[in-house]
Amino acid sequence: NMKFATRMERMQASEIRELLKLTAQPDIISFAGGLPAPELFPVEEIAKVSHDLVLKEGRQLLQYATTEGRPSLRAKIAKRMADKYHTNVDPDDILITTGSQQCLDFAGKLFLDPGDVVLCESPSYLGALNAFNAYQPKFVEVPTDNGGLIPEELDKILETTPNCKFIYVIPDFQNPTGRTWSMERRQKFMEVVNKHNLPVLEDNPYGELRYEGTILPSLKSMDTKGLVMFLGTFSKIFCPGLRLGWIAAEHSLLSEFVKIKQSADLHTSNFDQGVADAYMEQYDLDEHVKEIVALYKHRRDLILESMEKYFPAGTEWTHPEGGLFLWLTFPEGVSARKVFNKCIEMKVAGVIGDAFYPNQKTDRSMRINYSNMPDDRIVEGIQRMAKAIKECM
Ligand code: PMP
Repeated sequence: NMKFATRMERMQASEIRELLKLTAQPDIISFAGGLPAPELFPVEEIAKVSHDLVLKEGRQLLQYATTEGRPSLRAKIAKRMADKYHTNVDPDDILITTGSQQCLDFAGKLFLDPGDVVLCESPSYLGALNAFNAYQPKFVEVPTDNGGLIPEELDKILETTPNCKFIYVIPDFQNPTGRTWSMERRQKFMEVVNKHNLPVLEDNPYGELRYEGTILPSLKSMDTKGLVMFLGTFSKIFCPGLRLGWIAAEHSLLSEFVKIKQSADLHTSNFDQGVADAYMEQYDLDEHVKEIVALYKHRRDLILESMEKYFPAGTEWTHPEGGLFLWLTFPEGVSARKVFNKCIEMKVAGVIGDAFYPNQKTDRSMRINYSNMPDDRIVEGIQRMAKAIKECM
């Protein structure tokens, strides 16, 4: 009977988290997680790089380091943002963080007092909603359609809602829907946030994993007022276990994040930063990303083809141009929860879509991950899921 802070009342083990445990049973074909394919981790290369690095600069590497991060890694990130995301930032305006997940927590810490409003896409990334939730905000969901967030709806909300502190968005291959915002949407969105001076947290963990179409400019690259904070990560292009992410923001805003970082953990693992940096010196990260893209594109194509073949009429799904996820919408009257339970009986799993809505529940959707399962399990899993949907109709 210890007395915890009131924020903990919102952080109790959710039903969804309990359901996720079911999906982790080893005999289940799981489309539930968001895990990269481990067979592509550059294990040998990292072993070699780490060995050489410790011998070469172990004394500095194992010592405390600056909060902002390893300068040569920040320089490489700035170059990568220019090359891959068409976004020019000064290396000094980049802070290395412990995964981009840490930036989500920091944004909550920086902006939110209890009762303040966070805006997000409806639906949005569960991990971000959980991170913000600790700061006891209200969530207001901005309507979306297949083209992403609808800027006119955001404008209406901002006209009538007080205390909106920031908006959290994932314009490229969104988690959970796999949708990408069009160019017009991006422009219109920037007009709206500029009009209201609304800070923007642009989360882009999947941008480099594009399987078709052309890259669109980041919101950060279109920002003229210093409102956009861009979050990047090595988790999906390299390895998530290293926990390396970054935030790029206008200098005075970045220095607020640096203050928070300093009090949270002083700095991100100097060793891990060194490993990523040395890997990029000695190997070609672009070549590695190409391999990831080729494998995931193949898996995406296979899962789309299988759904086309086996799913009953009336079930709809998004066609992601990249990233790890797609979004199923079941026919009117078919409960996602019932389908989920049936799926578990048949040893296949996705995540019930309602997990990704902070307020509004629909019981109609499911998030599907396609990056982690081999071909035969993808086909078998979709066949089982098709059967489960039919039994719930
Ligand atoms: N944002 C989004 C949209 C994600 O999907 C994830 C991880 N799945 C993260 C942030 C966190 O990633 P990481 O902390 O590994 O960089």
